[in-house]
Amino acid sequence: MPESPAMVRSIPITRPWMDEREAEAARRPILKGWVTQGPEVAAFEGEFAEFVGAPFACAVSNCTTALHLALLAVGVRPGDEVITVSHSFVATASAIRYCGAMPVFVDIQPATFNMDPERLEQVLSPRTKAILCVHQMGMPCDLRKIASFARNHDLPLIEDAACAVGSEILWDGQWEKIGRPHSDIACFSFHPRKLLTTGDGGMLTTTRQEFDTKFRLWRQHSMSVPDTIRHQANTVIFEEYPEIGFNYRMTDIQAAVGREQLKKLPEVIARRRHLAQRYLQRLTGIPGLGLPEEPEWAHSNWQSFCVRLLGHVDQRACMQFMLDAGIATRRGIMCAHREAAYPPGSWRCAGSGDAHHALAHSETAQERCMIVPLYHDLATDDQDYVIAKLAECITVQH
Ligand SMILES: *Cc1c(COP(=O)(O)O)cnc(C)c1O
Repeated sequence: MPESPAMVRSIPITRPWMDEREAEAARRPILKGWVTQGPEVAAFEGEFAEFVGAPFACAVSNCTTALHLALLAVGVRPGDEVITVSHSFVATASAIRYCGAMPVFVDIQPATFNMDPERLEQVLSPRTKAILCVHQMGMPCDLRKIASFARNHDLPLIEDAACAVGSEILWDGQWEKIGRPHSDIACFSFHPRKLLTTGDGGMLTTTRQEFDTKFRLWRQHSMSVPDTIRHQANTVIFEEYPEIGFNYRMTDIQAAVGREQLKKLPEVIARRRHLAQRYLQRLTGIPGLGLPEEPEWAHSNWQSFCVRLLGHVDQRACMQFMLDAGIATRRGIMCAHREAAYPPGSWRCAGSGDAHHALAHSETAQERCMIVPLYHDLATDDQDYVIAKLAECITVQH
């Protein structure tokens, strides 16, 4: 029997946690009159650096621009190759293209949806300039193995940590936050689909001062003397533009909101971990359903909870079934190499270049996976409803 309209639920895929605190924070720069890259940005950078345990943090307009600056800083230029994954949001590969370089895609490990370190060797070439790994959906990738490969081949390593704010990795016996960073540079996103949002926004963290200096220059048109300094000076200063830069600034309004979001982050992560554990416990043992796996050296922030549909279970039918029940879902993470923006010749993969073979796990994950609702205030009975509907859908089809 169909449910009556009063009983139909509407459960989104995610929801940012914003309230009067963010609204109040946004008032500060608005009423003060300094609205872009000023004191709020500086304060947010300091607080973010402390949170992840990084010596330097530089705020920018979003994670895509962060990735662009990170790749430029390690010297990626036209004609170079950068090893990364295709199975990621398109921005990962696009940032490589912005530098005129070619993305070289390696396959993922199916259990974690992350770069398979064992496949790096296969794609190495004299043109390889850097490695760009991704902590997909907040699950830390195998940084220890990837970083050791990068070191052995004298290659810089950049982390696309867009989804991974607050995720942790076991490092020399200690749990450390992603972004310390455990590579040369880590890049974060503050898009509303991530755990901490400023509307749009991004952050670069690094241990190397020379990189941080470059980021600060480039994000503001390579202006030699930033307006924050000129504003305070009591002598007239003329700025210079020694090289081409960008406008990749974060506004003070965004940063003020970000500072409030950062205060809430530990609670958001604790809540998401709790909900993810509930999903894992209650969805275990359903034939036809595969569950995400967290390696023992990783703590995910559970930016997304992604299940695998096995056997005869059809992705589109399953997503439609859930939608009819009032539950929003998303298909598995996209593969850049399958998009028209990435025609053959604009990227490379292992072997003879047969992506269907070389990137088989990536393609399967896109086709056979489904992301289900997860957000800080997902009510227990709504989650139970999602679990029940998912089990019903899988059982019918399997
Ligand atoms: C969201 C996302 C990005 C892009 O972040 P923006 O802040 O929207 O530019 C890049 N990489 C990954 C893996 C993402 O999930």
